[in-house]
Amino acid sequence: MTYDLIIVGAGPAGLAAGIYAGRYMLNTLIIEKAQDGGQISQTAEIENYPGLRTDVEESGLSLTERMTEQVKRFGAERVLDDIVSYELSSDVKKLTGLSGRTYEARAVILAMGAHYRSIGCKNEDKFRGMGISFCATCDANFFRGLDVYVAGGGDSAIEEAIYLTKFARKVTVIHRRDQLRAAKSIQEKAFANDKLHFIWDSVVDEACGTDVLSGLVIRNVKTGELTRLDADPADGMIGLFGFLGMIPNTEGLEDSGIELADGYIAADETTRTNITGVFAAGDIRKKELRQVVTAVSDGAVAAFQAERYLAG
Ligand code: NAP
Repeated sequence: MTYDLIIVGAGPAGLAAGIYAGRYMLNTLIIEKAQDGGQISQTAEIENYPGLRTDVEESGLSLTERMTEQVKRFGAERVLDDIVSYELSSDVKKLTGLSGRTYEARAVILAMGAHYRSIGCKNEDKFRGMGISFCATCDANFFRGLDVYVAGGGDSAIEEAIYLTKFARKVTVIHRRDQLRAAKSIQEKAFANDKLHFIWDSVVDEACGTDVLSGLVIRNVKTGELTRLDADPADGMIGLFGFLGMIPNTEGLEDSGIELADGYIAADETTRTNITGVFAAGDIRKKELRQVVTAVSDGAVAAFQAERYLAG
């Protein structure tokens, strides 16, 4: 069968698009390869999304569950599959899944998200959300008055490190070279900040602790020397933020004709891509602020644009 609309990805952008598409009475299929929520399904606590419940501890998972439930009420069909190829140029778009199944629709919203490049240290998964974070805007508040480490040396790492100094007692950037990649103007601000410190030529080798992150082992990439950094005993924990660049989830789009910009799908605030009938929503889209609130906004806009496109 040919759907009106296929939404690929059931993170906040895809789920919001599903709600709006349902309200527009579009015959919609949402395809997700794993669990709903994308990156937020791994976020322990969320506090900056407007309207969150305060009577229960809101996690990324609980917020996602409510979004998923809301999508169900609007009647979108769901399927679990990993889309591996996209034929988008014709009026009827054809998507093929890892399962071998093919899916057809007259419009497609690409909402597959992005993922942070992992820090690559031992125990990284164990302490993700328990001291290791990839989002200062989301998590800085949890590290008030503590010692915080930032891995990376690009614009994001240094800008976020400066932001973290407003919360943390001390912020130490761990960078694999002896020069930052960040823009000179950002570097100047960083070097002038008394709360910001640097460990050069080093990477995080291991994250340590029992329940929460309370220490790091760092490795000097030139000498191979290992150094252990422990939390102040009175604190019991430290923070480690990874800003090693993001990787958009564009696998499978290589031969689709979709235009990319810096690896992300090139689409402005209308979410329209270079291919008619194809829209990009959420973190996969080239944009500046990647947050749940901007992802759901994209999802709503993309469904609106898809409805207008389908209505001719
Ligand atoms: P990025 O520029 O790719 O920087 C990534 C940083 O992580 C680099 O310092 C890199 O080290 C380091 N790194 C990468 N892989 C690593 C590994 N496996 N182990 C240790 N270190 C590793 O990423 P970004 O900072 O997220 O920025 C992405 C894009 O957004 C850039 O074009 C940036 O200019 C832009 N941006 C702009 C602004 C702004 O203009 N205000 C703010 C944020 C981002 P090396 O330096 O040694 O390669």
